[in-house]
Amino acid sequence: MPDECSLCHPDLAPKLMTSEAWMLILNHNQNLLGKCFLALNRHLEAVTALTTEEWLDLQVHLRRATDMLISAFQPDHFNYAFLQNQDRHVHLHIMPRYAAPRTFGGSTFIDPDYPSHYAVPAPVHRLPTGQFAALAGYLQQRLQ
Ligand SMILES: [Zn+2]
Repeated sequence: MPDECSLCHPDLAPKLMTSEAWMLILNHNQNLLGKCFLALNRHLEAVTALTTEEWLDLQVHLRRATDMLISAFQPDHFNYAFLQNQDRHVHLHIMPRYAAPRTFGGSTFIDPDYPSHYAVPAPVHRLPTGQFAALAGYLQQRLQ
């Protein structure tokens, strides 16, 4: 069981915020506009081993992240998932779902599977570097 992983070194990913226990990271794959995840600040692989303080902090910041996405893109629904298939480090996916296309920075984003199951593996929609940075900034401005 490794005690270090890529989520222990998330400098590669844009962090939208860091709290006591969690960091909010924007996914490079933006197949669902605004898709992001909350990763625990320490390496832990079992969700059931989270402390009470970490659960309480998760509740606060899950609400903040959800409100941020509502403010930015008005998703029609949200999927939340602890999957940890590729990265065992505890993290919670926040997947905004859309009944109709959204646009950002001149790109159009669709959710072809709405309202049914989120497709795994997800289709890939990577943004050009400048547009990705603009998206991160746009979301950060809406983080209350
Ligand atoms: Zn880790």
